[in-house]
Amino acid sequence: EKLRKGRSVLERRVAERTQELRQLNEELQRLDNARREFFADISHELRTPITVIRGEAEVTLRGRERDPEEYQDALHRIVELSEQLGKYVNDLLFMARAETTMMQFEWDGLDFAELIGGAIEDFKVMAEENALSVSLRLPDHPVWVRGDKQRLRQVLFILGDNACRYSNPDGHIAAALVVENGEAVFSLSDQGIGIPAGDLERIFDRHFRSENALHSRDDGTGLGLPMAKSILKAHGGRISVSSTESAGSTFTIALPLSKQSPTG
Ligand code: ADP
Repeated sequence: EKLRKGRSVLERRVAERTQELRQLNEELQRLDNARREFFADISHELRTPITVIRGEAEVTLRGRERDPEEYQDALHRIVELSEQLGKYVNDLLFMARAETTMMQFEWDGLDFAELIGGAIEDFKVMAEENALSVSLRLPDHPVWVRGDKQRLRQVLFILGDNACRYSNPDGHIAAALVVENGEAVFSLSDQGIGIPAGDLERIFDRHFRSENALHSRDDGTGLGLPMAKSILKAHGGRISVSSTESAGSTFTIALPLSKQSPTG
């Protein structure tokens, strides 16, 4: 009875996280579409005034003598178009800024081992549903890092979710945290479909999905790993992958250790 209750609590938590992640993905996709449309529009809007400004100036310089009024008209148009250009450049800068501040972080000292321990408990429920076994190796001491708990949990969720989605039934998933060269290094290995060698470099690009992934799962967006990568970058960390097609993948993340305890 107690086990059953525990399990249903976990299942609810996983369902909540899944829902959160789905909403985040949708939001990201909306932003991404808006961004793409914006850039398609703006590249046209930038090119037109530049071409006209240059044309006006060239004609004014090289052309036949014109009366002062004609010169004035040409200069007015140049000023007008320059103003328009300035506005577009401002918009572009605003977009670029919005992109980097889009993600809000709350920084805390935290024990990465504890965070992983909790995340893996949630993850086990998800794995069980796919008949996957999970093992976890943690150091027997706290591993202090500085970071945003929610965001780091999100990274673990993305990796765990992928390991499940791209695994074959009855596979095994091995998670481990070690401390190496002043870094907390977490790795997650699956025995799933793997990633073709030629695609390894591209899987952190927005919207990129491998051919084999497209065949095995149609529920991907190609936004999880880019998200994980930018979260880790904001933490001064990194993410890497090694994989063999049809054999499995290992994703590794590294975070700088912090000397601070949670209260420090
Ligand atoms: P999604 O899984 O929604 O497609 P991600 O950004 O999380 O988006 O992953 C991008 C791509 O990287 C996937 O489509 C897949 O090709 C590949 N990939 C990620 N994780 C794994 C994994 N554990 N095993 C095999 N391929 C993976």
